[in-house]
Amino acid sequence: MQNPLAKLIPQLVGEYPKQFNELLKKVPIPDNKDEMAIRDELWKAYQFSMTCHEGQKRRSGKPYFDHCYEVATSLAEWKMDYRTIMGGLLHDVVEDTDVTISDIDKRFDEDVAKLVDGVTKLGGITFTSRKEQQAGNFMKLLLSVAQDLRVIIIKFADRLHNMKTIQYLPQIKQHRIAIETRDVYAPLAHRLGMARVKWILDDLILKTLHPNSFEEIDTKLKASNRQRSKYINSVIDPVKKELAKYDIDAHVYGRPKSHSSIYGKMVRRGKNFEEIYDVYAIRIIVDKIEQCYLTLGVIHQMYSPAQDRFKDFVAMPKSNGYQSIHTTIVGPNGNMVEIQIRTLEMERTAEIGVAAHWRYKETGTKSADLDSDIKWLRELVEILQSESSDPTEFMHLLKIDLFNDEIFVFTPSGDLIQLPTNATPIDFAFQIHTDLGIHCIGAKVNQKVIPLNTKLKNGDIVEIITSKNQHPNLGWLKFVITGKARNHITKYLRNIRQEESIKLGNEILDKTLRRLKMYSEKKSVKESFDQFGYKSTDAFIEAIGNGTITIREIFKKLRPEDEPSLEESQEDNANQFIDYARSAARGIKLQGIGNIMVQFAKCCNPIPGDEMVGFVTRGRGITVHRSDCRSLPLLAEESDRLLPVEWDVARSDVFKVRIKVVGEDSKGQLKTMTEAISSENSNITSVDLKVRDNIATAYFIIEVRNSKQLDRIIKKLTRTNGIDYVERTGQ
Ligand code: MN
Repeated sequence: MQNPLAKLIPQLVGEYPKQFNELLKKVPIPDNKDEMAIRDELWKAYQFSMTCHEGQKRRSGKPYFDHCYEVATSLAEWKMDYRTIMGGLLHDVVEDTDVTISDIDKRFDEDVAKLVDGVTKLGGITFTSRKEQQAGNFMKLLLSVAQDLRVIIIKFADRLHNMKTIQYLPQIKQHRIAIETRDVYAPLAHRLGMARVKWILDDLILKTLHPNSFEEIDTKLKASNRQRSKYINSVIDPVKKELAKYDIDAHVYGRPKSHSSIYGKMVRRGKNFEEIYDVYAIRIIVDKIEQCYLTLGVIHQMYSPAQDRFKDFVAMPKSNGYQSIHTTIVGPNGNMVEIQIRTLEMERTAEIGVAAHWRYKETGTKSADLDSDIKWLRELVEILQSESSDPTEFMHLLKIDLFNDEIFVFTPSGDLIQLPTNATPIDFAFQIHTDLGIHCIGAKVNQKVIPLNTKLKNGDIVEIITSKNQHPNLGWLKFVITGKARNHITKYLRNIRQEESIKLGNEILDKTLRRLKMYSEKKSVKESFDQFGYKSTDAFIEAIGNGTITIREIFKKLRPEDEPSLEESQEDNANQFIDYARSAARGIKLQGIGNIMVQFAKCCNPIPGDEMVGFVTRGRGITVHRSDCRSLPLLAEESDRLLPVEWDVARSDVFKVRIKVVGEDSKGQLKTMTEAISSENSNITSVDLKVRDNIATAYFIIEVRNSKQLDRIIKKLTRTNGIDYVERTGQ
């Protein structure tokens, strides 16, 4: 009879629920730990989880807590440490109840809180891509987000129970979860060496996705069961006897073949069940490595080995840490029998894979300071390196946690893109397609518009906004970090400059030669490029266009006698220049002249609505300044080079303006500023925030259509709490 107090405070009375006691029995107790202390800790997690999930039900109609209990039980059976088991009990508390991670942090060990946090984060990521090659990246993402392999182990226990109870879900959900398990979790289990978990998952996947095939195999397996065990025993019994002669205390048993592996062979080899199921399988577990080889010798004496079917994964472990000796022999009646020989330790490793190493380590360590995940992973890598011959692929998998040099982000369609840490939306865009990068005008991360220099984070969903009118600009080079983006931007900028200069150079040459009535000389002038040290006509013309070399210099050398007549045309040069240089100026009208090479001065960045003036530069077309620009008086002596210019803008054109916003440094200040700007429909192309003595100074480069829009933004920002002043600035 249970003490009535036991229900409320079992820890005082010492009578815990039966279910709890069963779990406790399975929990490994490290040598250096007090069993009572572990029981108390575990009870705390058990009770907390039960209370939090109270009233919640699974689809099966059972209490939600049952799921948490099953997850914890799996972890205990895999001999995970008690903190991981606590993590298993609490794994859905943050995701599915009102409890927050800081509640967990207050109540439990930091280690436990970290595990729960990790599992919760993983819960937020779902694999939606239909492309199989994406699964590998997704695995890396999971590891990267988890930070601690124990989080992945909990996730496996969770997935295992969800797959076991999948029949209660609606058909479409069953399908999605089974596919995700097939493409991500089963291969990941394989890579981590969790062989048992993998085959249980594989069978559940088969049962969900191909129920008819599963049933067929299942029925046939059951029907042949009796005959099979009879045959297996006819091999096991003599083997046991023979091994005993050599003082080998071996555990010999018939190994069931999984439904999924039979199905896989039927499909791959196009055979029927009977042809596949001819093969019998036996496993022999011994104490020591030497005994593995001795056992192998004994077996080969008793039965003749099948040719080429021997594999020594003890001396050469698989990259996931798997160790075993495999051989196939010809048994009684000529049936093939597959035999696996391994030590108990290898058997355990094969069950839960790399996590086994962690488990051994915990027992052997005195203090609880195994906490540093990174340290642990580093050690894991060492373990794997010493045991395995070619673990490069697996190493690479773990490396991301060690050095944190890669992130994975999603495209809107669910594909994963691998990028270096600190990559920006521009890097992302170029990674996907050059055109996407070239025309990138903005980006959304997790549905929110963000500045293009924002650093992306693991698991972000990134959407690129493009515009035909947008092109790379020099500013991008300040924050892109991938070589791909950098190369494309530089190449684009160089080509544009080159194209414009060549066009301009040709026009300068044409006009000047016509004026001098020397147009027939054009060909010979163009071919004289090597006299001026250029490699080609294009390079020569480009030099004329960008002002590196002038027509005067050219003629001085080619026709010293024509000097005077040239002088006259030189005077006229500026006008000439304007006449023809009517190229791709966007938004500028020069007294009815279009098509001119125009740049906006960086010192004042004029935008529509500003009064402005053009300045004819040497070879670089016209630079447009605001009429109140401080740089202009310096140029007054060259007033003949100043030109009136007007705006000529289409509604869709946007211009970049730099503004300085100064305010108190408070949490969310930057967010407030960006929201004020966005609310006036302006894009932010760059943000630079500096904080000093609690004063935050932010420089934004924003896109506006005209000075009216800019005025509205400045007014809005000025009215915002905590912002002291706002001003428009040059570079
Ligand atoms: Mn769960």
